[in-house]
Amino acid sequence: MASPLVTLNDGRLMPQLGLGVYKVNQDIAVQLVQTAIEIGYRRVDTAALYDNEAEVGAAIRKSGLDREEIFVTSKIWNDRHGYREAKEAIQESVNRLNIGYVDMMLIHWPCPKQDKFVETWHAFEEVLETGLVKSIGVSNFHQHHLEKLLAASNVVPAINQVELHPQLAQNSLRHFNKQHNIKTEAWAPLGRAKFLENPLLVEIAQSLGKSVAQVIIRWHLQLQNLVIPKSSNPDRLAENFDVFDFELSQHQMGIIATLNTETRIATNPDDMN
Ligand code: NDP
Repeated sequence: MASPLVTLNDGRLMPQLGLGVYKVNQDIAVQLVQTAIEIGYRRVDTAALYDNEAEVGAAIRKSGLDREEIFVTSKIWNDRHGYREAKEAIQESVNRLNIGYVDMMLIHWPCPKQDKFVETWHAFEEVLETGLVKSIGVSNFHQHHLEKLLAASNVVPAINQVELHPQLAQNSLRHFNKQHNIKTEAWAPLGRAKFLENPLLVEIAQSLGKSVAQVIIRWHLQLQNLVIPKSSNPDRLAENFDVFDFELSQHQMGIIATLNTETRIATNPDDMN
């Protein structure tokens, strides 16, 4: 079965479930992305930081799919903030991917201490006009970063990709994003596999005949999050995509909501430079 499509605020369609490739080494990346495409994935989330854009692009070129059938996100790294630097960084990602255009380009982190994300966004807005990238968005933006960005720019980010899993449900930010027609995307959607043995999740999974990872991915889909679980194992890749034949009840969604402690696994964006 295919992933549902989500309509972004610029009118473009994006598959709701995709593959994240952070920490996927270059030597396995081409094969892994090809396997994912065979399973049915039509979206890959990479970044300049991950050092595998060229491999992601190679896998897509080899897939035989029409370019429009696959959606690729990339991100510029923190040392490329600033108007000129960001434009160059986007061009470099486009070159490394070598698939014509990039579907979605993100500012990876706001880096508030550098205080250049508005300037960086203006470069993104201009590159959008060229067609090199089809949609633009941000990542790791708190509400206050978004408020500053929205007040100083014309294009509303299509997505805000943030750390989001049952332990960090980001309810307030998800609400803010929704109010501004920004889709919320979950990174570390499985909490980096840190709570796959949680008894409440295990019980729900067993009652449905599904794995805990599948239950968590389903929770994201039902919350209307975009979601990009990473796996470098072909069986788990298939497992993570096999989530379209069941639904969590409101009661089960409620049980998962009790796991939310708004606790991060990774760095708070305000502290990242
Ligand atoms: P995830 O929550 O996706 O967890 C990945 C971990 O879970 C890996 O150790 C993987 O192991 C394991 N795993 C995956 N599927 C299963 C399964 N079915 N059963 C058991 N274990 C499983 O964390 P990530 O940090 O990778 O986040 C996902 C993606 O989000 C990244 O790849 C990246 O694209 C993006 N991201 C974006 C960030 C940002 O700042 N914008 C920051 C971090 C990530 P194995 O590979 O062995 O299966």
